[in-house]
Amino acid sequence: METVLLPDFLYSGGKFVSGAAVICDDAGRIVGISGAADDLRSASRLRNRALLPGLVNGHSHSFQRAIRGRTEHRTSATRDTFWTWREAMYRAATQLSPEDIYHVARMAFMEMLLSGITAVGEFHYLHHQADGTSYGERNLLAEEVVRAAREVGIRIALQRTAYVRAGFHQPPNPLQARFITPRAEDFIEGTETLRALLARSYPNDDAWVSVAPHSVRAVPLPYLLEITRYARERGLKIHMHAAEQPAEIEACEAEYGARPIALLRRNGILDPSFTAVHAIHIDDSEIDDFRETDAKVCACPTTERNLGDGIGPADRLTARGVDICFGTDSNVQIDLLEDARQLEYHLRLKLLQRALLAPAGLFRSATVTGAESVGVPADAADFFTVDLNDPSIAGATPDALLSNIVFSAGRAAIREVFVGGRPVIEEGRHPLQEEIVEQFAAVQAKLWSAS
Ligand SMILES: [Zn+2]
Repeated sequence: METVLLPDFLYSGGKFVSGAAVICDDAGRIVGISGAADDLRSASRLRNRALLPGLVNGHSHSFQRAIRGRTEHRTSATRDTFWTWREAMYRAATQLSPEDIYHVARMAFMEMLLSGITAVGEFHYLHHQADGTSYGERNLLAEEVVRAAREVGIRIALQRTAYVRAGFHQPPNPLQARFITPRAEDFIEGTETLRALLARSYPNDDAWVSVAPHSVRAVPLPYLLEITRYARERGLKIHMHAAEQPAEIEACEAEYGARPIALLRRNGILDPSFTAVHAIHIDDSEIDDFRETDAKVCACPTTERNLGDGIGPADRLTARGVDICFGTDSNVQIDLLEDARQLEYHLRLKLLQRALLAPAGLFRSATVTGAESVGVPADAADFFTVDLNDPSIAGATPDALLSNIVFSAGRAAIREVFVGGRPVIEEGRHPLQEEIVEQFAAVQAKLWSAS
């Protein structure tokens, strides 16, 4: 049974075309684009709509949706930074039950779908009970997150995260006990178990596993080499936080005598399957490391501005042909188009120039590059529509429509979302919306009632 969709404008081959329908097969793959009269007649007509490929969120921690709006005040620290935010985040992370994690994840994933995101790379590091004791079922929390994703209808790469220590010469932090897997062989065994489970339960590329060493700080080099070798043997994508904060660079230099990206390059860890999340504080030779290895960068500008991380060199990365994708990371805001435009706007403010990154390139980052980074099949029938009459983009002619969408579309402009050819958002609403919001609000009331 084919699905045939006919919008007013279809984004295809880097431009909007009219009189073209996209044809999807029953397995949820795109099998063709057609202007034939028979296909146009039988198509589901999407009036006043443009249809675009689904946005791919390369980096998310869904549970952090629970601390939205809870860290926007000064603490007793003399200077509030990423590191004071992190302590607040850990306090919430240790309090969420498996059921809470499921409800918070459903909320985050539904908001992603409502904003046109059809696949998410979920960088998942909550593995154990708060005191570090394992659940009887080792992947219980990962399974809850995947269950949440599939219930709301988003594709998910569960980026199973290895976390070993607080840092070089750092004493253990009890608030990190929930994340830690001390031995690489246990991490690999747990990952294999989850892979087998997801392959059995979700055969249609709806959910799969990637490997995510947390950072150079949290994973010592021998462990890192062991799990990246494993990932490569299995053909799994590798995602890793890198060069987000200056203190991380200093610690890496103290431990290894090298900056993080240079260390990864020297040890053969950078390759086309590798994505470095953030890569903000990098120098020209590290940009060359990305270029020469075809490793990717995942920028998370809405989170990076929220945390005061800094502004990455997206202009220099792009000029040298390094691929950038986007992530919503802390989920302080879930709007990948906002991440795309902020990548450009941050550079404008810093460099006092305009139009450094082209809208088509930003949109490619949010779709094609994201899909390559996370592992979404290139022919996945994942789409979102925009209402051409929405006030935020109304009046845009086809030649200016993409710039309007990238720089100006509000979330209300996004009306339908399809994953694997099937509608998951219709008329800007999710079928489970009320129940998901209600359950999430109950978790929030419980989590924050004491404060
Ligand atoms: Zn992150």
